[in-house]
Amino acid sequence: MDQIQIGGFIAACRKERGMTQAQLAEKMNVSDRAVSKWETGKNMPDSSIMLDLCAELDITVNDLLNGRRIAMKNYKEIAEKTMLEMRQAKEQNDRMLLHMEVFLGCISSLFLFTAILVAAFVQMSTWLRVVLVAAAIVQFFPCMFAALKIEQIAGYYKCGKCGEVWIPKYYQVFFAPHINRTRQMTCPGCGKFYFHKKVLTKDE
Ligand SMILES: [Zn+2]
Repeated sequence: MDQIQIGGFIAACRKERGMTQAQLAEKMNVSDRAVSKWETGKNMPDSSIMLDLCAELDITVNDLLNGRRIAMKNYKEIAEKTMLEMRQAKEQNDRMLLHMEVFLGCISSLFLFTAILVAAFVQMSTWLRVVLVAAAIVQFFPCMFAALKIEQIAGYYKCGKCGEVWIPKYYQVFFAPHINRTRQMTCPGCGKFYFHKKVLTKDE
């Protein structure tokens, strides 16, 4: 530990925050002379007030003891925080996508069945019936393909056998026998043709 460097660092941090020695002393409940002694490296701040002093100067104890800001540590913390935020954003996005899948599927199916019922029971000319049913069928399949695409890319599938979490290809999802979103596929982890549950995070 280099007390001169630590002292200089304390002075620099204090000035960065626009405080005089007297103001810092008042906040720390010590004398002006005590602050002056820290800053000239004659004395170290007492361990009992070190945490408060670091909070006041917006540095870590690690920074203080090293007499400089530890860039790598900050970097790691920031990187971890950013990654966590990104993960949360992805989860939220995936959750929204899965709601959209349901919405799209429901609207599209509803339109198809309504069109068929109307065509069957409401009096209208034959060409209109044909156009109505054709339109309903034409919208139905692209919507279903789109809904399935949404399901494929949102989150992951988790193998019920070995717990492998992965994202299958579109054709694998498309041809997989399924109950709702639980699909039977060949797991890349254990190689078994087994049920896979839809999950939003890798550690669900
Ligand atoms: Zn497996």
